[in-house]
Amino acid sequence: MTDHDDTTGRDVSAYDATEFDATECDATECDATERDAADEVTVIGGGLAGMTAAWALSSLGLPVRLLEAAPDLGGKAGSRRIDGRTEDHGVHIFPAFYRNTLRLIDDLGLTGSLRPTHKFHQIRPGLLGGAPRKATATSVAEGLLFLYGVIDLLAQDYTTRDESLHDFLRTRRYLTEETVADIEHFFIASTAAESRAASAAEFRGSIAAFLRRPGRIRMPRGDLQHWLIDPFQRRLEATGVKVHTGYELTAVTTSGHRLHSLTLRTPAHTTTEHVTGHVVLAVPHGRVTDLGPELTGALRPAQGIRELNSRPLGALHLYLRRRLPHLPAEHIRLVGSPHAITLLDVGQNWAGHRTTVLNCVVGRVERLAHLPEAEAVAVLVEELRTYLPGLSPDDIEHVCYQPHLAAPYFTPGPGTERLRPHSTTALTNLHLAGDFCAAPPGMTGMEGAVRSGLSAAESVRRVLRPHLPPVRIDTIPTVRPGTARLVRAALAPLVAAARTQAGPRPRRRRA
Ligand SMILES: Cc1cc2nc3c(=O)[nH]c(=O)nc-3n(C[C@H](O)[C@H](O)[C@H](O)COP(=O)(O)OP(=O)(O)OC[C@H]3O[C@@H](n4cnc5c(N)ncnc54)[C@H](O)[C@@H]3O)c2cc1C
Repeated sequence: MTDHDDTTGRDVSAYDATEFDATECDATECDATERDAADEVTVIGGGLAGMTAAWALSSLGLPVRLLEAAPDLGGKAGSRRIDGRTEDHGVHIFPAFYRNTLRLIDDLGLTGSLRPTHKFHQIRPGLLGGAPRKATATSVAEGLLFLYGVIDLLAQDYTTRDESLHDFLRTRRYLTEETVADIEHFFIASTAAESRAASAAEFRGSIAAFLRRPGRIRMPRGDLQHWLIDPFQRRLEATGVKVHTGYELTAVTTSGHRLHSLTLRTPAHTTTEHVTGHVVLAVPHGRVTDLGPELTGALRPAQGIRELNSRPLGALHLYLRRRLPHLPAEHIRLVGSPHAITLLDVGQNWAGHRTTVLNCVVGRVERLAHLPEAEAVAVLVEELRTYLPGLSPDDIEHVCYQPHLAAPYFTPGPGTERLRPHSTTALTNLHLAGDFCAAPPGMTGMEGAVRSGLSAAESVRRVLRPHLPPVRIDTIPTVRPGTARLVRAALAPLVAAARTQAGPRPRRRRA
């Protein structure tokens, strides 16, 4: 592959399927039946990564079956029926730099399922009645310092090093305490990771991607199941992919350089089957680790996956009896909210709603884990009321609270880039996908998942269909540190003047 990394200029084939020796049953040596069996690909895990892998593999003309433990496909990008309603795992947005995700959606003929949003709001607490107050514009001086901070981050060369977002921010002595706290809050609200647990290199990567691929953020026109996952599943089945839900992988064995057997549990029985073809494992990293050191030792890098971390990112959906006045229709961040809440009133965006329906994402949901759910909801509703003063508990007709403690969200920590596993493994018939897999900095979430699915398909193609062209994987153009350094140097005199006007400097907090 000849793509280039968006931020460092490195050859991104380093993140994707790497060449390896195909020492398994060579197709030319097998008879026709063995060849068919050797060609079959079993994808385990029906989230976006697994669905994408199945789609790309099927497009290569390979027979594919997709096994998913849950009753429905979609994983974290899907929905569940709860109390008779379809509830998203959490409200999702699609930035313009999600090139692989948006291309996949286009290939599926589902571009119409998304619509662009025009604004993003940040509101502060404290306004009684009437419209929520917008965040006051920071002074020109503080605005300039913030911009300088972004350029300073882009000027960092993280090719061979990384640091925490906390360490980067707290050592920028020109930033104000308030600006640092606000950036940290923004990060927690979207990833559940406190700044000490977040990689500055990854944050740099997502900012670079955002700047190089600006454009409107898109959001689904309705719940993810109906607008994305169900039609995706129908397209998969139409191309011949056999989808089986309720199949959970519980154990594997290996033999030499091959994955040897899979133990699958369904509600009715548990079976162990011999692996004749290829397997794409597309389950969360914690589930991969549960399969044991023999398997994690075959990943590249070996055992690195055991050091990855994920954190719960919760969802609270409030159905109100009326339409709250003055509430913006676009995404809102509650600036400084103790549990790091962002929300969208899907009642104004999705068909079939006459009243307000608040879909909130809760970044610091783990802090409520010790409380019974009703108490946790009460805490969050009180917090919402400080920002949305028109909201009263009597307005709430129905609550759906999903803290997702058992389905955490992956955000790369400082230095974890070198630990994220590649699609190609040391087992010649095992390939890996998932949002935690190796990717250029800044590519996580849905884009990370889709990208990894394509990379796993490419890994399989190299063995089974080497004569076909590589699976397409798009990247974002580079923001080189050197360019950012030039801009930083040019702005330095202005920044020195602006610093004299701005608020207190950031304090380094104790660990
Ligand atoms: C509240 C919330 C909001 C989010 N918002 C955004 C957003 O706005 N933008 C964005 O880009 N990302 C967002 N994300 C993240 C995004 O949803 C995920 O990164 C992405 O969907 C992960 O896809 P995946 O296929 O890698 O993993 P998953 O979605 O976790 O899929 C893995 C699948 O494997 C199945 N599985 C697990 N174990 C087994 C087993 N043993 N056998 C068989 N199957 C198994 C699971 O049931 C699941 O379906 C959000 C996440 C959350 C929690």
